[in-house]
Amino acid sequence: MRKSLFSFIIIISFIFSAFGQTKIETADYLPYVHKDSINRTMQDLENFTTRYAPKGNKHVAEYIQQRLVDYGVANTVIDSFYVESTIWFDSWKLFRGYCYNVRGSIEGTENPDSIVIIGAHLDAINLVYNPLRGYVLNKELSPGADDNASGVAIMIEMARIMHQYQLKPQNRIDLLAFDAEEIGLYGGAYDAKRRITEGDDVVIMINNDMVSCQPENKDYTINIHWYNNAVPEANHAADMCREYSTITPVLPQGNDNSSREASDSWEYAKKGIKSVFFIEYFFTDYYHTKNDLCKNSNFEYVQEVGKVNFALLNHYAKFDGYFTGIQTKTKEESFSVYPNPVRKMATVTISSEMFDMPYTLQIFDAFGRLCYQTSLTQQYTPIDFSEFSSGLYVVKLIVPGGHSYTQKIIISN
Ligand SMILES: [Zn+2]
Repeated sequence: MRKSLFSFIIIISFIFSAFGQTKIETADYLPYVHKDSINRTMQDLENFTTRYAPKGNKHVAEYIQQRLVDYGVANTVIDSFYVESTIWFDSWKLFRGYCYNVRGSIEGTENPDSIVIIGAHLDAINLVYNPLRGYVLNKELSPGADDNASGVAIMIEMARIMHQYQLKPQNRIDLLAFDAEEIGLYGGAYDAKRRITEGDDVVIMINNDMVSCQPENKDYTINIHWYNNAVPEANHAADMCREYSTITPVLPQGNDNSSREASDSWEYAKKGIKSVFFIEYFFTDYYHTKNDLCKNSNFEYVQEVGKVNFALLNHYAKFDGYFTGIQTKTKEESFSVYPNPVRKMATVTISSEMFDMPYTLQIFDAFGRLCYQTSLTQQYTPIDFSEFSSGLYVVKLIVPGGHSYTQKIIISN
């Protein structure tokens, strides 16, 4: 009994030193905020053709739910709520029906009851002004890339990074996508009310609504709409822009800031919850039209906004890193194992395209024992890890001539 306990302690301490829980630095992770994955989400959302809430957005909510579940947020739910609303731009018709928020939580390791919310509305609208007829609603075509697939894409990008790099927040992070914003901020109102009813301790609510319009020939700029109960938070968000992105922040003053009431964060602010609201400074020409498309979006810019969001999450939720391998900046780019953590299968990619002689791949367990060896004769080689037990491994690539590179992976079967 005593002996087995002893070896148990040795294993635990070895794993802890290998994984080394460390406070992560925002700057180290900014390169991982990526415009390609942001682009993918925005394109997927645009491809729904319309996301006009009264037409029913359950399938859109299901898509977002699946994306979050894929990034390890297994508790993500579709939180439906009933809306009854007279819609002026639809000939004052009464809409009655369900709308669909998406909500997932990443548990806080230290303060499970302190909540940081990052949210964006998922619905869209196409409302064209006609000088003779006034606003004409097109229910069938509202691609909403900028408004607001861009905000949803940032929220999902944060989930992707936390998952891929094993970041664990000390405070809980709630990932939110709101429905029915365009017909009256219903999704935000519903969630904000729920927070009050349930006595949630919300540290801050971060809202991104329209964050992809930025002309290439002008300096990157963003509006941070601020609320009376969260002025220091807005100033801090501005500091994060200056420190971690190429974006110049603008905090609109006085009457210019009436737009702060035009998105979901307003519903939280009204209930006393601190909120910040990011919106592009160069307002899109395609607002609420069929041309609000990815091809008119600046993904580089969304990526920069994403970096600011990451900095805010790290500030308010405080990430710890559990996988030191990924932070090694000296890591050679000569090969990669993807995905990492590995589940069942992974692909080893070698950056070289010359295979005159085979490369040797070796895999060692946490005790340094060789447990797998193979020859690689092509750039991409799928490897079956399903027989491996879960844990930390070191992958070693020996190139012809003897030089070698190593990398840590986690297998989580
Ligand atoms: Zn919007």
